[in-house]
Amino acid sequence: MSNLESEILNSELPVMEDFYTIQGEGFHQGRAAYFIRLGGCEVRCVWCDVKDSWDVNAHPKMEVHALAQKAKLSGSQLAVVTGGEPTMHNLEALTQALQQVGLRTHLETSGAYTITGTWDWICFSPKKFKPPHPSVAAQADELKVVVFHKSDLAWAEEFAHLVKPACKLYLQPEWSKESEILPLVIDYVKKNPRWQISLQVHKYMNIP
Ligand code: SF4
Repeated sequence: MSNLESEILNSELPVMEDFYTIQGEGFHQGRAAYFIRLGGCEVRCVWCDVKDSWDVNAHPKMEVHALAQKAKLSGSQLAVVTGGEPTMHNLEALTQALQQVGLRTHLETSGAYTITGTWDWICFSPKKFKPPHPSVAAQADELKVVVFHKSDLAWAEEFAHLVKPACKLYLQPEWSKESEILPLVIDYVKKNPRWQISLQVHKYMNIP
């Protein structure tokens, strides 16, 4: 039996960490949110700030209903499922469990694989290190491109053409290069105002 088949039957997923915090990025920035960081990522961005998430076998498995109960008891109204790259797992059982306890389901994904599960909000953040699956862009509510190099601005436009008209567009300076990249992004957004700037405000607030 494959890992994914086993996950469907057991409704268990590898969880690196789960915590109640403030969403620091993108459209829902500033909202209280329960974060579920799943283990496993094959995208391998050079600037990744959660490299400990990469090894799918390094994280204990949690049963999705227990996870949903924890999220509910936190007081949060929404759950953000992130990683790692969460779409490497089948997320049907997890989103069902979260919705059964009344939580909104938000996904943060690089789009490396097809999306499973039922989502109230999909944040698509494509990465150059593993091209996204062609089905993902059209499902995105939010396109968030991390800008590490000036050339990433042109690359972001390639995806802006693929998303639906209502999709929100964000450029987010990569944290370690923010002082260099932020002025470029400010200038770009002033010239191309359909884009907005996303800053990782949780890092300014010193919260996870
Ligand atoms: Fe890190 Fe996310 Fe890139 Fe995976 S997709 S390497 S978790 S930044």
